Amino acid sequence: MKNKLQALQKIDNEAKILEGTAALLSWDQETYMPVKSIQNRSKQTALIQKIIHEKCTDQKVGSLLKDLGATEKSISTENSFTEIENAFLSNFNRKYQRDIKLSPQFVSDFAETVSVSQSAWVEARSKNDFKMFAPHLQKVLDFTKKKAESIGYEEHPYDALLDEYEPWTTTAKIKGVFEQLKGQLTELSNQIAHAQPIDDSFLNESFGTNKQKEFSLLLLKDLGFNLDIGRLDASAHPFTIAVGGDDVRVTTRYNEYLIKTSIFGTIHECGHGLYEMGFGEKIKNSLLANGASFGIHESQSRTWENAIGRNVAFWKFYYPKLQKLFPERLSTISQNIFYKAINKCEPSLIRVEADEVTYGLHIILRFELELQLLSGDLKVDELPEAWNCKMKELLGIVPDSDANGVLQDVHWSIGIFGYFPTYALGNLYGAQFYDSMLKNNPDFESQIASGDFKTVLNWYRENIHQYGAIYSADDLCKRVTGKSLNSDYFMSYLTNKYTGIYNLI
Ligand code: ZN
Repeated sequence: MKNKLQALQKIDNEAKILEGTAALLSWDQETYMPVKSIQNRSKQTALIQKIIHEKCTDQKVGSLLKDLGATEKSISTENSFTEIENAFLSNFNRKYQRDIKLSPQFVSDFAETVSVSQSAWVEARSKNDFKMFAPHLQKVLDFTKKKAESIGYEEHPYDALLDEYEPWTTTAKIKGVFEQLKGQLTELSNQIAHAQPIDDSFLNESFGTNKQKEFSLLLLKDLGFNLDIGRLDASAHPFTIAVGGDDVRVTTRYNEYLIKTSIFGTIHECGHGLYEMGFGEKIKNSLLANGASFGIHESQSRTWENAIGRNVAFWKFYYPKLQKLFPERLSTISQNIFYKAINKCEPSLIRVEADEVTYGLHIILRFELELQLLSGDLKVDELPEAWNCKMKELLGIVPDSDANGVLQDVHWSIGIFGYFPTYALGNLYGAQFYDSMLKNNPDFESQIASGDFKTVLNWYRENIHQYGAIYSADDLCKRVTGKSLNSDYFMSYLTNKYTGIYNLI
């Protein structure tokens, strides 16, 4: 049995090396690749993806898995393997069972469709013309429905899609969590709307980008991001990518008039990077060196960005440093005014710029529309109107254009349905973990107020990072906090914080 397991581990290890190679090509594409080099690059990437797919869905893999006790739904743990080995088998099998349900022809046809659809989306967005994008979205949606049918599901086609990003979670479960969250967030957002508004206009004045970069690097180093096995670069959309266990790259973006974007983009991606750098030695270079789910990955980035990076104690340490870098802009602005400005809450049109309170409502909107599109209750050409109605219902504002409404996100154009919920789940998991961390580390505030992040990082390393994907998101949540996911933690975190900032009663 042991040699069969080793044979599977060898295949996984080679796939991981190929994935790292593809990751490097993709990192290069988003950062330094010359603009006209895309044709060859897409061929290189497609070929590597094809080799990985073939390697991991080979008949040999199927028989090895079967011999090791795997069935379509699960693996038998009646064996002499360790917990990590069984977790490896279970994860490998889960991925295999999904992959073999999609024919290579389907995968390549879908890939071609989304590549055309994405460029149509870019043009439609720049021209504010949804009609131009609609036929492409229809095609992508048809493929997505076929994909869900091929993979199979118990209740809702959305289950099959969600499972790719949040393994072992169901649509019904997310619906229940979001239903409760929707009411809670709306109530808090309404309360804040009646409070004295915060003026954050000074944040949109000119802040030199070289100094922004200097500050971003300082933050990364201080927070524990190891620059000997990582890098910081700039890209249009910030991201984190692991080229290997000892090569984790993050990006941010610099805009002279948007200093908040580079600071919080950097801290957010640093949170993802710290997770990637923290996987235990025993799982490095295997498929377990991965987030437990996309929601859990996002819980790390959101915690560093918001709970830590927008914390009043954090700026006790960093505000004097930022003032020193930008004396002409910040010398007359007090620390308290700065703190309130970076936490300003106000309903806005664009998801990626939303504050901590209203962000979840943007996600719920997308989740509800995706469900309707998948079930056929909503037609593609009805989408802009449905979007605007939901914006009115959830955030009380209506987009001035489709470019700032239904066309704002890239996800649907590239066939990513079922992903949006992970952003909101990240906030929820993050707050629940954060609550446990605070209980175990009562000196947290004085530590970060003096620029000491070691204790907090170690807590995350020990309780979350080292395990990678050994445990499912739900099991990990129960291990760390004693309970399954519960939105009350997030709500009490937000209510405490915003009651202070807006003097709510
Ligand atoms: Zn993220």
